[in-house]
Amino acid sequence: MGIGVKISCPCFGSFILQVGPRMAPPKYCLFPFLCTECKDASCLDIHAQSQACEHCGSKSVVPYGSPPAIGEAGLHVVFACWQSDTFSAEQLTLTDGTYWCPTCRQHTARFEDAGIRWD
Ligand SMILES: [Zn+2]
Ligand SMILES: [Zn+2]
Repeated sequence: MGIGVKISCPCFGSFILQVGPRMAPPKYCLFPFLCTECKDASCLDIHAQSQACEHCGSKSVVPYGSPPAIGEAGLHVVFACWQSDTFSAEQLTLTDGTYWCPTCRQHTARFEDAGIRWD
């Protein structure tokens, strides 16, 4: 079951991002990644053999729970994927802190639980 996470930034307002696992295939969990090449964001499967940026194709992508994407860590967890073979639980946790906004290119984006559950 996946969930909807709301991402908001003063520059674009807000939209809903679909994250988390789906029913099939069983090992599948979407999580936002930041590309360190083009500084854009993609929602990618953490269990895939490798992750690549949806915008420039670079494999230099890090989960949003990693330092380049985090501005200020928050106290409350908004969403987390279970750790995978490749990434730690910390890298796969979104808090209510501030994160990199790929649109205005500052750490001014925030995540919140949109209260939407996907089958
Ligand atoms: Zn890229
Ligand atoms: Zn922005």
